[in-house]
Amino acid sequence: MDANPAVNQPVIDAEVLVLGGGPGGYTAAFRAADLGKQVVLVERYPALGGVCLNVGCIPSKALLHVAQIVHEVDEFEQHGLSYGKPNFDIDKIRGWKESVSKSLVDGLARLVKQRKITLIQGTASFTSSNSVDVQTETGVTTVSFEQAIIAAGSHPTKIPVFPNDDPRLWDSTDALELKEIPKKLLIVGGGIIGLEMATVYHALGSEISVVELMDQIIPGCDNDLVTPLYRRIKKQYKNIWLETRVTSIEADEKGLKVGFDGKSAPESELFDAVLVAVGRRPNGKLIGAELAGVNVDELGFIAVDKQQRTNVPHIFAIGDIAGNPMLAHKATHEGKVAAEVAAGLKAGFDALTIPSVAYTDPEVTWMGLTENQAKQQGLEYDKATFPWAASGRSLSLGRKEGLTKILCEKETGRILGAGMVGPNAGELIAEAVLALEMGADAEDIGLTIHPHPMLSETFAFAAEMITGSITDLYIKK
Ligand code: FAD
Ligand code: NAD
Repeated sequence: MDANPAVNQPVIDAEVLVLGGGPGGYTAAFRAADLGKQVVLVERYPALGGVCLNVGCIPSKALLHVAQIVHEVDEFEQHGLSYGKPNFDIDKIRGWKESVSKSLVDGLARLVKQRKITLIQGTASFTSSNSVDVQTETGVTTVSFEQAIIAAGSHPTKIPVFPNDDPRLWDSTDALELKEIPKKLLIVGGGIIGLEMATVYHALGSEISVVELMDQIIPGCDNDLVTPLYRRIKKQYKNIWLETRVTSIEADEKGLKVGFDGKSAPESELFDAVLVAVGRRPNGKLIGAELAGVNVDELGFIAVDKQQRTNVPHIFAIGDIAGNPMLAHKATHEGKVAAEVAAGLKAGFDALTIPSVAYTDPEVTWMGLTENQAKQQGLEYDKATFPWAASGRSLSLGRKEGLTKILCEKETGRILGAGMVGPNAGELIAEAVLALEMGADAEDIGLTIHPHPMLSETFAFAAEMITGSITDLYIKK
């Protein structure tokens, strides 16, 4: 470390500077260090792991597991298993959720040390195309770099006219804090965050209403895959208002008074808490990118090429800040590409698909082309949908609403897309992704021996429906 005589602030030199310690940033930092680069990683919070480990994927999945236990026990009463009404020790559940995140975050801190990465806790802002200033607790540290990887992530979208300072108006981070269980909870946005949090709070006893702008929940997914989830939660939740807009939210002593505009919604209703989950905004406008000459679009995204390079060739961008879909597995994959390119390897982002999973109950998952996309592109495809009502494993879980759908190119039989809905469906999608990446056709999938009785068999059965070799169903010729 040199002293900068002009301003008397420490200067650190980095071969690779990584801005942001979320899944994209820590993966990029680790890969670059493993490839021999001297890496400086800057993260504004004391804990590494970003949104995913601290206020996203991991804490939400810990709470969703609680919800799963509650629902399974509840539903098995009809089959002769009963433990009585559940008793929630919210402090203990919260503590457990935090311990799951902590063990992963602590693991990251160890991995940083093992790789001899310089970690600076502070908020970084570019001062030129080769330097950032990091505001730390004790002052400003300047890092000059040869190459930089921007991994500064995203934040929840706020609707400015809502009373955002009211503690009863939540974003996903507030919802995950599990401070209280509201009697009446409104979820604005029937996307993945909204529906995952609805699953948690419904299990913990809240009366749930969901309001969604579009004509279906999880609008990016084919409607047939979403329908089993929709049917189930329609029975569980008080209201699901589709094609409905929230027009106002007013803070009242008794609750938040919410105004609606939609065919089936009331004009207004009072709720104890409202979770706004209408998407996330990239942090591109918050890092002084203009001083580095890096282009940031209106929304805050930074455009990149296949090597994750921005318009400034020695500065890369990865993860949520580099575009949709905002998913941790996209961020980590891009992080590896950027680190490898920075280290001089011939790498590029050429994945054929990025799978999606909604960890609702039932889970909904899809990859490759959706059927809507295949239709829009005018592709000729064969489609098969295997009903989990014919899966012994699904029935033994007490569930029969699931489906496994596969789309194959008509001419070649090659898989184009697939999706599943059902309990634990998310675990099945990786096989479909591998099939797509390997160029497998329906015959390859059907001839692959799947263990019995597993939910994964449904993927092979769907493929057999396409080749005509299915015996677990009778399909009239
Ligand atoms: P982030 O995780 O946002 O990390 C960016 C990091 O940069 C943060 O730690 C931030 O503090 C730091 N930073 C920002 N600006 C600065 C600065 N100026 N100086 C220093 N540091 C800075 N994805 C999935 O794939 N599966 C899931 O199940 C899933 N569940 C989710 C549940 C919820 C409730 C939410 C909100 C998100 C979920 N996501 C999930 C999305 C996932 O969390 C993100 O896609 C992922 O975290 C993006 O990683 P990232 O590295 O790009 O950014
Ligand atoms: P989202 O885009 O998935 O869903 C937002 C939903 O809100 C959409 O259905 C949209 O039509 C609706 N909406 C938008 N404006 C509205 C309005 N004014 N009134 C009513 N509805 C409105 O966004 P999200 O659920 O906030 O999630 C943010 C990001 O986090 C997503 O990119 C998602 O991929 C990621 N995430 C992923 C997972 C996972 O992989 N399991 C979990 C949580 C979050």
